[in-house]
This record gives sequence, C-alpha cells and structure tokens, in this order.
Amino acid sequence: MSAGTHDLADAAAEFGRSIDPDQGAELGAGDGIGFDVDFIRNDFPILQRTVGSYPLAYLDSANTSQKPSAVVEAIEDHYLNHNANVARAMHTLGAEATAAYEGGREAVARFIGAAQPAEVIFTKNASEALNLCAHTLTGGLGEGDEIVVSVMEHHSNIVPWQLACERTGATLRWFDVTEDGRLDLAKAEAEGLINERTKIVSVTWVSNVLGTVNPVTELAALAHRVGATMVLDASQAVPQLPTDVTTLGADLVAFTGHKMVGPTGIGVLWGRYDLLAELPPFLGGGEMIEIVRMTGSTFAAPPHRFEAGTPPIAQAVGLGAAAGYLQAVGMERVAAHEQEITRYALEGLQSIDGLRILGPTEPVDRGGAVSFTLRAGSTDVHPHDIAQFLDARGVAVRGGHHCARPLHERFGIQSSTRASFYLYTAKREIDQLVDALLYTQKFFS
Ligand SMILES: *Cc1c(COP(=O)(O)O)cnc(C)c1O
Repeated sequence: MSAGTHDLADAAAEFGRSIDPDQGAELGAGDGIGFDVDFIRNDFPILQRTVGSYPLAYLDSANTSQKPSAVVEAIEDHYLNHNANVARAMHTLGAEATAAYEGGREAVARFIGAAQPAEVIFTKNASEALNLCAHTLTGGLGEGDEIVVSVMEHHSNIVPWQLACERTGATLRWFDVTEDGRLDLAKAEAEGLINERTKIVSVTWVSNVLGTVNPVTELAALAHRVGATMVLDASQAVPQLPTDVTTLGADLVAFTGHKMVGPTGIGVLWGRYDLLAELPPFLGGGEMIEIVRMTGSTFAAPPHRFEAGTPPIAQAVGLGAAAGYLQAVGMERVAAHEQEITRYALEGLQSIDGLRILGPTEPVDRGGAVSFTLRAGSTDVHPHDIAQFLDARGVAVRGGHHCARPLHERFGIQSSTRASFYLYTAKREIDQLVDALLYTQKFFS
C-alpha cells in the first residue's frame, strides 16, 4: 500500500470491514439504527479476549478506546515500509513519511470539517493541546482579567488555566452545575459570570464523568459577545458526535487520539487559521522555526510553529486511519448506537436498588459515560472494590475521581464508578455489568 496523502482514509475504510450507510439496513441490525455491533466488533480483535473465565466486557472507553485492525495495520505498514523522519529528509523514504504524516493531518481535518489542514496542530495529547492554549492565549493577561471554566472539567482543562492565572494575575471563575449535572446557565447569568473582564472561556463539550453534552454554540456566543476567546475540550465529543468545527462556534478545539480508536501519543488542537497565525509559539525546538540566529529566531507558520521537534509520525498515520475508519462507519451511526447503548445502560443500572447515577438520567443530550455510586446495606461500596469485583467477572470499568475532583466535591462524594461505551459496545456487556454489580452489592451487604 502506498502512504500517499489521500489514500490513508480510503485505505482505512478498506481495511475496516465496516459497512457503508447503504448496507446498514440490509444487515438487519438488532437495534433498529442500521448498525450491527457484532460486525463492528470483528474489527477489534481485543474484544474477543477473555478475562479469567469470563468474556471481556470493556466498559472503559472514556479512559481509552480500543483500536481496530485498520489502525494497527496502518501503523505497522508505516514502520515496516515507509519509516523516516519528516520535513527534512532528502530521500524517498523521507518524502513518503512526510506525505504520510501530512496525510494524517488531512484525514483529521476532513473528519472535523476544518477549512484547511493547516488548522490542525498535532500535540502529544489533549492535555498538551490545552496547555498550548493556556500558554499562547494568556501573554497579555493581567490582574482584573478573568478566565472561565466549569466545575465539570477534566483536570487537563483546569490546571493549565490555574497555572496561567498564577503567572499573569488573572482570576479563574467557574460555571456551576445543577443537581442533575447540567451546566447551570441561570446561575451564571445571575452572577454575571461572563462579563467584560472575561478573556477566555474554556469548557468541555461532553463531560467524561456525567456524560452531559454542553450547549457549545450558546456558550461560544456568550463568550464572543464580550470579546472572549472560546476554547473547547472535545476529548469525549469528537469520538462520539459528528463534528463540524466551522459551525460549532469555538475558536480552539482540543481532543485526543487514543479515545477515538487512534493510538496513544497524539492529540489535536484545531484553531481558526487567522487566530493561530496571531499566536506566539508554545514549545521551542527544531521544525517550528523559520530562521534561528544567535540574536533571536523567527517562527514558521501554523501548524508547524506549534510542532517543535520530531512529531508523532506513526501516531499521525494511525490517527488518520482512525478518522477514516470512523468516517467509513459514519459518525451519525456511531452517535445513534451510543445513545441506544446508553439508554439501555441507564435502564439496567436504574433497576438496581441503591445505585445513584451522577448526571442526567435521560439519554437525551448525553454521551456514553455513566458514573454512579452503589449502596450495600447502609454504606457505599468503595469504587475501587467495585472495580475489582467487576474485573473478577470480566467487566472493565474505572473507579476513582476520573480526573474530575472538583466535580465530585460538588456532589459531596470522593469518587465514583464509571462505565463508558463506544461504537463496539454490545448490550450483553451491559447485562454482564448489571449482573456483576448485583453480585458485588450482595457480597458487601
Ligand atoms: C481524557 C480527557 C482529557 C485528557 O486527555 P489526554 O489524552 O489524557 O491528554 C481531557 N479532557 C477530557 C474531557 C477527557 O476525557
């Protein structure tokens, strides 16, 4: 296979035995949305695994997703046949590697509807993308300026802004959430949270704990009305919702490769080109400069200005294949399947006495992560005990604060257990989860 720029996504689609939208109906999918989950599962060999004597029920996709053969094969093909450094190589392999790396960028740009590939910056992960924003947007900030985040943020969208506030003297302010885990816009308005002092608003599109889908376009309009820049943490959203950055309203959008069936070691920051062109560099090094003199340097144009040193080349190839794979399945159908599985899970979990769901209990405007606490007798079972008991029955979930401590504090708890779903999640895995939870509850009662 050639690693030419345009064929990565096509190649991924070919690799993936996934269906095209027209074929869906014909496959007679069980859940009425033209989506045969067992067909998809064939693309993910790891899902055939057992854990002990149980079939694996992988319900930790919000932590990291599994990878289809198409992605693994694209990375393997790159290393086995095209490996070289990018941009500076004066030979055939170097040209192929550069084309493959830039091809990954083009596939990602297509996947999110970017106006041009140069708007896609590759980083190490979403955390680095958000740090890039927190460094490059805050140079002119000082006392009296405000940055607004929400209490449902992942630590990656809190700590970089806290550090920026320490550096600049700006103040960090917070959107609260309602009892049912929605952003409390009424309270924000009453408090004048977004005002003429607001310079940056940075919130998550989909909560990694509550599953809440936030009204991004409305938030962006609030930010823009006062001249603030809108940053979006789309780490949980881009993997599961159709995304068009040109209509979202956000100025900068961060997400991470490993949660969208891509490899670890690569993240993305999308930005409007005119905004990116105004921003100073983040990290310094090779590849991001134009001219280096002893007296100072000038910098390359975006996206390379923000990509210091040898970039994650094979990871970009893998991420391009991942975007191609998801596009071949169809993001509308990924979202519909996720909603159907989440509805089924909410129903199953709510049938357990003493189980309390954090966040929205209706599958509307809700992503595929469900966090909960579980009572046995008169006390909550510790999420670490739950995770361990579930693992012993083949069910992989996460227990802890899920990098969202302020949110857990807001709900008056230390930690929770989270089950999270993706395009390959089957209803029988939800049944396995519910059975294992009932067993755990009985054991601790
Ligand atoms: C996972 C996640 C991040 C961080 O992603 P990394 O790949 O660990 O940098 C940030 N925000 C949200 C909402 C996440 O779910």
